[in-house]
Amino acid sequence: MVYQWSELESIFVKLGLEIFDIELEVKDKNEYIYNGKSRNGAIGKTSWYIPLSNDETKELGVEKGGCGLKIIKYPVNVDIIDEYHRLLNEYSIQKIMNKENMAPDIYKLLLVKNKCPISYEWLSRTLEFPSGSILFAQVVEDITNCIFDESILTTEDGIPYGQKVDDFIKKCGQLRIVPYDINIENIFLHNGELKVVDVHKWKRSYSIVAPKAPKYVQIELNNSCNAKCAMCNIPHMTRNKGYMTDELFIRILKEANKNSVEYITPFLHGEPFLRRDFVDKLHLINKYAPNAKITIFTNASMLTENAINKLAFIRNIDQIVFSFPGGNKEIYEKVTGLDFENSYMNICRAFEVLKDIPMRISMPIFTDNADSESDFYALWEKYPCSAYETYNYLGDVSGTLADKCYEHCDRAFRSMTILFDGRVCLCCMDSDGKYIMGDISKNTMLEIWNSKTYLELRQLHGICRNAYEPCSKCTLDLKTEEYVNAYCDNNR
Ligand code: SF4
Ligand code: SF4
Repeated sequence: MVYQWSELESIFVKLGLEIFDIELEVKDKNEYIYNGKSRNGAIGKTSWYIPLSNDETKELGVEKGGCGLKIIKYPVNVDIIDEYHRLLNEYSIQKIMNKENMAPDIYKLLLVKNKCPISYEWLSRTLEFPSGSILFAQVVEDITNCIFDESILTTEDGIPYGQKVDDFIKKCGQLRIVPYDINIENIFLHNGELKVVDVHKWKRSYSIVAPKAPKYVQIELNNSCNAKCAMCNIPHMTRNKGYMTDELFIRILKEANKNSVEYITPFLHGEPFLRRDFVDKLHLINKYAPNAKITIFTNASMLTENAINKLAFIRNIDQIVFSFPGGNKEIYEKVTGLDFENSYMNICRAFEVLKDIPMRISMPIFTDNADSESDFYALWEKYPCSAYETYNYLGDVSGTLADKCYEHCDRAFRSMTILFDGRVCLCCMDSDGKYIMGDISKNTMLEIWNSKTYLELRQLHGICRNAYEPCSKCTLDLKTEEYVNAYCDNNR
């Protein structure tokens, strides 16, 4: 099967590659006979090209040293898809390492159509020996004033050794990244620190397998709220407001029970206690999914004495999280539009009455309330409390603080998120339900969970979350269980 560039371009663009419409000419047909094997004898499929001269950088519209150019060295054929997956993996690894200052920030990839698998002429330069990593390392050295000194880091046979290399590999292990073919061509010294140059010799140290059914199900009982927090998606939501019917809710609970769902969160976008019958819905969970643990998120403003007393009779509450986005009255009221004293007193009362239920107070931090974080901790010093940097809801909300993330996301592998009308959306970030995975009022939980749409999401996430279009914009950093386990193992 031969792929057309037009088909491939769209998937490469997802990765963030810029496609240059240049067809490299074969300089000399004899050069198809490849002599330039790398040290271990492998013939690479791609090579690096770093635009250095002013002409090159001008033509590409990039800064000198601002990007690495990845050239595919063979005509397009079926292998290109493997190559695409490899590039995706490489891309996420490089981003993760760069975040930790362990790889250079010159990895903007440009892809050039290449008709010649061996050598090529492009712009003003001819690459006679495109072995990749060495060239790349030398260029990095030129650009960044790094030292690329093999004698410091290798034995006479060129094998990496020494404390620095050991420490570096250990640190990579903590990021769940391991070398599968480490040689000195892959790393260089920068200000006394090692950095990975060509990350394609590195891979993730764990793999992800989705369970047969979701472990977590988040159910939107209503998508309205009495607050208007600026860092929340609620004020930006354009879909209709509504309540889930009991018939649909019970159907979902029965399915959850049948598939041994472990956690049910009867909340998605909105304030659950706005429904006066909310505690009755918790009884329904106890009745129809008796083993499921329940997590509750609330702004506490509607948490009346009566509601608190009734909560004491609900089984399996795993935890109640009180969202409190302001450390003092002024900020809290400005951000939420709610009454500070009312919410504060309701939370205190809940802690007094519900002694057997784990509870904590959580402060979502964003630009408008960040200054009151210390007030928040002072205000709640007697109670379990924590703060977190808010997410951008796929770019819909500004002023949020979490950075872009490149790790695999737990939501794609463990969670199912159900809107009040029964549609299953991508996750809690998809507040407008733009990315629909199925409809639980029409299909079973397992049909949706194992649908082509979900499988594609997981396949691409397993390689790099940036491959899936909405996820490439997401700043929610929710790691998979495998990732967390691998991390714990490495730190034991
Ligand atoms: S209280 Fe919660 S759901 Fe309501 S607007 Fe604020 S953050 Fe959003
Ligand atoms: S990466 Fe973000 S948008 Fe994608 S599934 Fe995970 S939480 Fe949702």
